[in-house]
Amino acid sequence: MTMDIRRFGNIVFIPGSGGARYPHCNSLFIDDEVKAVIDPGSDEACLRDLAAGRRIDVLLDTHYHEDHTAFNHLFADAALWVHEAEAPCHRSYRTFLEHYGLAETPYRKEWDEFLIGKFHWRERTPARALKDGDILDFGRTRAEVIHTPGHTIGHICLHFADEGILFLADYDLTPFGPWYGDYCSGIEQTIHSMNRLLAIPARVWITGHQLGIVEEGFEGLAEAYIDAIDRREAKLLDALESPLSLDEIVERWIIYGRQREPRYFFELGEREMMRKHLERLVASGRVAKKNGRYALA
Ligand SMILES: [Zn+2]
Repeated sequence: MTMDIRRFGNIVFIPGSGGARYPHCNSLFIDDEVKAVIDPGSDEACLRDLAAGRRIDVLLDTHYHEDHTAFNHLFADAALWVHEAEAPCHRSYRTFLEHYGLAETPYRKEWDEFLIGKFHWRERTPARALKDGDILDFGRTRAEVIHTPGHTIGHICLHFADEGILFLADYDLTPFGPWYGDYCSGIEQTIHSMNRLLAIPARVWITGHQLGIVEEGFEGLAEAYIDAIDRREAKLLDALESPLSLDEIVERWIIYGRQREPRYFFELGEREMMRKHLERLVASGRVAKKNGRYALA
């Protein structure tokens, strides 16, 4: 399926290459008095045209992930706007790695090559630290900042109330389900954020990956998306019929279904998401840890 550029008033939807699957995402361009690019990880040629053809005033990253910031560097003169919780992650590579969960990785060389080499990660000082409820004024177009932690700590969605558009960014409604594999991610926060998004009136929902523009059925898609959390947890509980260490749980590939390459990349998410599920199950008393292994309580 290929998607086309679509315009909603001054809001321009730029579909990501390859069906906007990782490593690409969908971008927005706000073509107003204040010109803004949101999540420049969609299509390199299209973004290069955008950068070459006009002055871009604002660059907004909904969160720090590499697939959403890959072409930040094309907009070097724009003012970077990010949520206040992630401003330190943009200022410092070390802080970014800590939030990601890479501070102690034995694969630091591979990750540096991946993030800095392939995705052009660079330290950059944000010009504006956004807060929940901020109204972003682009001229005729306005957007409200909806702080939606869970995916990352400072993830934001944008509500364009006049156009009836809700930009969901990485609450992407994919069959895979939500991502909470960063050190700073959270399962309960993800559920809470999705519930907030469900309560916002909109006519069009725009996702950061795959689907892109959703004009009907948002509630059902959101429900199936959040249900992935329970499906993963049920599989984990099945696996714990016999006690397992975290390393052994990771080998079951409950999140990804099978081991995928490069392993250092996929293992990070698999391990951290399972760790968060285990923490949740231990807290609720359903699982106990004994002698380094997790077992049904
Ligand atoms: Zn993300």
